[in-house]
Amino acid sequence: MPRIISIHEGTIPISSSIANAYIDFSRMDCSIVAIVSDVVRDGRPLVGYGFSSNGRYSASDIIRRRIAPRLVEADPGSLLTGDGVTFDPVKALSVMTSGEKPGGHGERSVAVGVLDMALHDLAAKIEDKPLYRWLSDRHALGEPDESVFVYAAGGYYAPGKTLKDLQEEMRRFLGLGYTTVKMKIGGASLTEDLRRIEAVLDVVDGSRLAVDANGRFDLATALAYGKALEPYALAWYEEPGDPLDHALHATLAEQYPGPLATGENLFSLQDARNLLRYAGMRPDRDIIQIDPVLSYGLAEYLRIHAMLRRHGWSPRRCIPHGGHQFALHISAALKLGGNESYPGEFEPTGGFTDDAVVEDGRIRLPDLPGIGFENKAKLHQVFQSLHT
Ligand SMILES: [Mg+2]
Repeated sequence: MPRIISIHEGTIPISSSIANAYIDFSRMDCSIVAIVSDVVRDGRPLVGYGFSSNGRYSASDIIRRRIAPRLVEADPGSLLTGDGVTFDPVKALSVMTSGEKPGGHGERSVAVGVLDMALHDLAAKIEDKPLYRWLSDRHALGEPDESVFVYAAGGYYAPGKTLKDLQEEMRRFLGLGYTTVKMKIGGASLTEDLRRIEAVLDVVDGSRLAVDANGRFDLATALAYGKALEPYALAWYEEPGDPLDHALHATLAEQYPGPLATGENLFSLQDARNLLRYAGMRPDRDIIQIDPVLSYGLAEYLRIHAMLRRHGWSPRRCIPHGGHQFALHISAALKLGGNESYPGEFEPTGGFTDDAVVEDGRIRLPDLPGIGFENKAKLHQVFQSLHT
């Protein structure tokens, strides 16, 4: 019966010079964890690794003082699959959230999500399967996708960045094999943003360009942008207003005919359900971007997906925020619409395995057991230094 021997936690910078309409990322950091098990393979204990997605700061204190001790002190059997072969992250979620009141999800959903990633990595390693295969088998999800659509998120604001630089950046993404790109809006005037969008439309077709306002706009601005963006028939218009202003979103959805995308700042099943109830989301075109790591982990994301299906949503309408290797496995196993990618940003946690190749906008899944961090050399080194 596998047991947890120890949990190690640390904080690392994922600093970057980029900025969106709301924050700059120069001081961004993230939590990393290693869960060491008593299962020995090739003379070494199997270890599961996890980190928090970009966009929220490290949640070290909550991990160290509340969530990790609950796992270490739990009855070992309460963390395992029914057959006792490996860890069951769905059961672990109940253990990790015991003693927490409902509502006000805040940073604890991040702390739980980091440990959930490490538990999934470990659970799949114990059964010697890549995570996406393990998920398909353990959750009876049917044959997983062999490759996942990824789009390149960039087009950030930067001091001195010209329209030519922006076009160059987008050409670079296309050169890397991406077919769809995303750029930021809302950090400049509408006139200036339209100039930026038109510059990018010289490089890609409107149906392959998404724009992201990062929750910046009030209703009048969201509508004004919507009216101006409509003729471009863009891939999607992302997070126009505050993530919790569902009335704004519903009003915009009545007037803007193209796809809207949101959800990266909603961190629970209850928040996701309210989005469907009140934000005027349209299952035939809109995109849900909930980030499994920021919202209590994949165990909670599976519950969110069951809820989405009950509301008539296809998993293909979900494209998670985050741009990393864990979400790639989730997208393949749950047959989502794809996954975000930030080429060259948010290192060392962001991005995919060192040998990953984007071909015609898609990435194939790796063959390594677990999430495959062992083939992401810089990150693996950082993880190993936590526990060796
Ligand atoms: Mg976004």
